[in-house]
Amino acid sequence: MTYSLVDPYGRCIDYLRISITDLCNLRCVYCRPPQGVDLLTHEEILRYEEILSVVETARSMGIRKIRITGGEPLVRRGVIGFIDRLTGIEGIDDVGLTTNGALLTKMAEELRTAGLSRINISLDTLRRDTFAAITGTDKLADVLAGIERAFEVGFDPVKINVVLLAGINEPDVAGLAGLTMEKPLDVRFIERMPFGATWTPHPPESFSALKALEMIRSQVGDLDSVPRGPLDGPATMFRLKGAKGRIGIIDSVTGHFCGTCNRMRLTARGTLRPCLLSDNEIDIRSALRRGDSPDQLAAIILSAVNAKPPGNCGHRGRFAEGMNRIGG
Ligand code: SAM
Repeated sequence: MTYSLVDPYGRCIDYLRISITDLCNLRCVYCRPPQGVDLLTHEEILRYEEILSVVETARSMGIRKIRITGGEPLVRRGVIGFIDRLTGIEGIDDVGLTTNGALLTKMAEELRTAGLSRINISLDTLRRDTFAAITGTDKLADVLAGIERAFEVGFDPVKINVVLLAGINEPDVAGLAGLTMEKPLDVRFIERMPFGATWTPHPPESFSALKALEMIRSQVGDLDSVPRGPLDGPATMFRLKGAKGRIGIIDSVTGHFCGTCNRMRLTARGTLRPCLLSDNEIDIRSALRRGDSPDQLAAIILSAVNAKPPGNCGHRGRFAEGMNRIGG
């Protein structure tokens, strides 16, 4: 049986983002509430075998691109072997990873050998005290060393994700953008989204992508527009004059890019999330544990694709789930 993963609004869904754990070795203020989170039990989390079954079925339906996220994916035991199996699935053309980078010096080489194509590293500041204030840890040096290591072992591209945090990392924008002068990095500035119990009352517009762009222009230099490539996702891309790398702007709150959404998400506890910005989720774990056939799994995946909303759907609200559960 073959399926076509086109949603009711004509968008072709070929990209699955998979959160493999809700555990993390950082406690970022915008991702985890200060009182902590109720972690999933071992039983609740999808086993690697179960995730691979979903991927196999999704691939037969048209999914070509996978991103592994979390929590922090590199803290889950067995992740290298899992990625090795994932990259071995015929028809999966691209497997990427989003990580906070704190374990990358140790793991970058094995990840590369396992066939990982691309890596995104989250880094919101270059200042040690601010890093500690955001993440609750003193691991900035580890993350910076991890970025270096990612280059050394040959990841290309290496992308840095910066969440724009009003009142916290405005002073970092110029320095983070400046990293692109020396290295062929993509540094992407992302508007903070209103997830879970971490949201504070100030409006997201208070540190918009546009504001970051203006700061870069006035504090660092002129930016040339760069055409968006197939690997750029929703980012609008720029380059500082003479820079080796690029700057990306993701206006996830003030912008409207749902019309080109090609994604679906699989959460660590085994639900399909048709839209990042809607709390609607569809259980697939029960089907996996009942031993449902690939065709039955395919029907669930199809129902999740059919549940994708048209877009621009009130995302100025606030969502029950934290990003630690969804994976970004
Ligand atoms: N632990 C990994 C990491 O730090 O990259 C992967 C999981 S993390 C949830 C994935 C991405 O989501 C990170 O780049 C993080 O900065 C981003 N993120 C988390 N909460 C966010 C929010 N409220 N708004 C925008 N991005 C957010």
